[in-house]
Amino acid sequence: MAEQWIYLDGQYVTKEKATVSVYDHGFLYGDGIFEGIRIYNGNIFKCKEHLDRLYDSAKSIMLEIPLSYEEMEEALVETLRRNEMRDGYIRLIVSRGPGNLGLDPNRCEKASVIIIVEQLAIYSEEAYKNGLKAVSVSTRRNIPDALNPKIKSLNYLNNILVKIQSNLAGAGEAIMMNAQGYVTEGSGDNIFIIKNGVITTPPCYLGALDGITRQAIIEICEKRGYKLKEEPFTMHDIYVADEVFLTGTAAEVIAVREVDGRIIGSGQAGPVTLKLLEEFRSIVDQDGLKVW
Ligand code: PMP
Repeated sequence: MAEQWIYLDGQYVTKEKATVSVYDHGFLYGDGIFEGIRIYNGNIFKCKEHLDRLYDSAKSIMLEIPLSYEEMEEALVETLRRNEMRDGYIRLIVSRGPGNLGLDPNRCEKASVIIIVEQLAIYSEEAYKNGLKAVSVSTRRNIPDALNPKIKSLNYLNNILVKIQSNLAGAGEAIMMNAQGYVTEGSGDNIFIIKNGVITTPPCYLGALDGITRQAIIEICEKRGYKLKEEPFTMHDIYVADEVFLTGTAAEVIAVREVDGRIIGSGQAGPVTLKLLEEFRSIVDQDGLKVW
């Protein structure tokens, strides 16, 4: 197998040499931010949107990224080129960098930037046809005035706790509510429901990441004239929906066939979900930054 090259603070190093300090506050405290991005047929899908979200997250947590926007773009492209990657997954991480054992980010001299590109273990085509089983979980989404879910931070403990719950329930994905009982998102995906021809997704202010795939689906719906609303809803609305699907960089658009033991619609991916997946896949190698 060809060598895997990882970008680490301006150097390209092998996987074995790609190590960070145990004093890095990303490791000690989850102090940092990240992006998950896809390259499809040589095109970094929605590159600008991902970098915008990264730089916005950095600004929000007062983390100075040591690379300009253009330098970051170049580092992404060069990492993909060195790995001869046309199709795959890109993990871009900016941690606060090494400091001391205290919390204070002022003790961290310089943020660390890491870019890892890998082949993606995606869901099988069978999963896209048949949908996932999901459960609602008791762990609530972080409230926006504690840690705003719009910040794509390295602190994923909230999401990991719900993943543990869904694993215990034998489900493929978890559905998180906020403290008021409104549905927010999955552990690593945004959520949509369809009822009587109307597609609804929760507004991000309820406590959801402003997903790039979510936004791409909203744009497709607008273009194709689907009725779409951003409105709060509850688990009841999920149980009685005609279709439910999740969106995310890794998952793309994937149906949910069963939630908390309730069969959704026909118990398979519904026609609108499949159409949206098809439309989504038709734009992924066009809308973005061309590398190859
Ligand atoms: N919500 C959470 C919590 C996530 O981790 C992700 C994956 N980044 C998403 C939603 C989907 O976002 P995107 O479409 O930008 O990948």
